[in-house]
Amino acid sequence: MRVLLVEDDKMIGEAISQALHDAAYAVDWVQDGHVAMSAIKIHTYDIVLLDLGLPGRDGLEVLRLLRLAGKHLPVLIVTARDAVQDRIKGLDLGADDYLVKPFETGELLARMRAVFRRKGGNAMTVMTNGVLTLDPATHDATHAGMSYRLSAREYALLHTLLLRPGAILSRTELEERIYGWNEEVESNAVEFLIHAIRKKLGATIIKNVRGVGWMVAKHKS
Ligand code: CA
Repeated sequence: MRVLLVEDDKMIGEAISQALHDAAYAVDWVQDGHVAMSAIKIHTYDIVLLDLGLPGRDGLEVLRLLRLAGKHLPVLIVTARDAVQDRIKGLDLGADDYLVKPFETGELLARMRAVFRRKGGNAMTVMTNGVLTLDPATHDATHAGMSYRLSAREYALLHTLLLRPGAILSRTELEERIYGWNEEVESNAVEFLIHAIRKKLGATIIKNVRGVGWMVAKHKS
């Protein structure tokens, strides 16, 4: 999953980036409202974490323009402004949730998972294709009654495929979901991760469609 973090405070931005990275998210961090708007035009994000007090465009203005442009991606406002009026305004402008600083990163990650569940129209806390189960809270994978611990990147790749069982994703599509724009990606990084996942969970977990990409099969649960 790819996150756009819009935060002008360096210390907070670094702390949140690191926490998201550790939790297997690809993170693009911008510190200005104008840059945020350009990033949203160029890249596809799964969620925007939006500070309100920003240089360039104010966060509420970014949110307003984004919804005006018909962008439906989830927005979680993360700000020190705890005035009730700002909260109401943010939610009415189309924010999905609101978190007031200071907060524990654990709460931020839990709220993000809740936003993704609502977006998926699914109250289930785990993801599954009927054979393989993945828990976004613990990053544990379960297959044939066994539980497996995945690395952050392995989790990110499997999570991306499990969002759409049966859909074939290309190398570029997978890289976009797993790596942020400041990260070096080795040319065989995706193959390497898939090899590692197959070694843990079994070779049939991820199917390769030659010349097109990879998928997890859709099973009836
Ligand atoms: Ca700020």
